[in-house]
Amino acid sequence: KASSKKMPKGENLFIAAKVRPCSDKKNLRSPLITDSENSIITVKSTNKEQRFHLNNVFDENATQEKVYDIVAQPIVDDFLGGINGTIFAYGQTGSGKTYTMNGNKISETSDSPTRGIIPRSIESIFEILNVQSKKDPRSFTFSVKCRFIEIYNDTLYDLLQTNNAAIKILASGEQILTVGAAEFVVTSVEECLLHLRNGWKNRKTAETSMNRESSRSHAIFMLTLVTEEIKGTFFNRRTSCLNFVDLAGSERQKQTKNTGELLKEGACINQDLSHLATVIRDLGDAKKYIPYRDRFLTLLLRDSLGGNSRTSVIVTVHPNREFVGDTLSTLNFAENCK
Ligand code: ADP
Ligand code: MG
Repeated sequence: KASSKKMPKGENLFIAAKVRPCSDKKNLRSPLITDSENSIITVKSTNKEQRFHLNNVFDENATQEKVYDIVAQPIVDDFLGGINGTIFAYGQTGSGKTYTMNGNKISETSDSPTRGIIPRSIESIFEILNVQSKKDPRSFTFSVKCRFIEIYNDTLYDLLQTNNAAIKILASGEQILTVGAAEFVVTSVEECLLHLRNGWKNRKTAETSMNRESSRSHAIFMLTLVTEEIKGTFFNRRTSCLNFVDLAGSERQKQTKNTGELLKEGACINQDLSHLATVIRDLGDAKKYIPYRDRFLTLLLRDSLGGNSRTSVIVTVHPNREFVGDTLSTLNFAENCK
């Protein structure tokens, strides 16, 4: 039974592990033992057992609804109240990052139980905002915008443009700008999902036409919300951002076989992922200087990491025995974020 411990109010960082269903035809015993009640996952290798204590552990039977409620919903709620948030999926290719974030298929209806965190978040956002604005349309208005950006080999691309335009990032003290990236105003769940799906399609297309394997890039879906509220003579305008990040596959690069471009790709991914753990770990330390600028990934997310913003990391792991090495390295990443 999965623990129902949600990300607590006021906590800025939540780290969960999720085990996908086994696909091992040989049916070798899984090296994973999940203790969801106590949020512990144990990895048994030949001569030792390693225990990882996280904020929550989802076994292969955990539903998408449950994962959303525990990991994402608290961040979505605060986003509606003006607080920035970021939700990451980290794990080796095939471990369920995209399944967790997006769902089983690129287009699922709003009653499909396998739809993932992003569509569920979008539904919740519009449901709550519409209720609020219908109650008093003269005193509450809102607008939601979306962007969808891919980072591949230290270059940013716009997933919402079919030509996959490369874009630039500009940072000032107040703001991070994505110059050249399309940003669409969306007024309904369907409109927002349309852009999300287009972005995924463009990512797939780039995979073949630009020879750019999607498992080797980060995909970042970004929502910006502006709300305006009038209370008597008091006017309140709030802006917040919510980011969903499907990270590049964390499998260890087989350096010996890779040369040239592939080697560079692997190095970029390794640097991004290890820098991300450093940044996340330092978030709680108010005194620390946080080196967001060192990588595009953390620079892009700067204003939604740290400060009073909220971050969830879901590490996805594969239960097959053959992947035990990558599983350990994924759980070590989770540990390093603490
Ligand atoms: P990743 O994005 O990490 O490479 P995917 O999300 O594409 O991995 O998952 C790989 C495969 O495993 C897909 O076919 C996906 O549908 C399946 N899968 C992953 N997690 C689950 C799950 N919890 N339940 C059922 N199928 C899953
Ligand atoms: Mg994927």
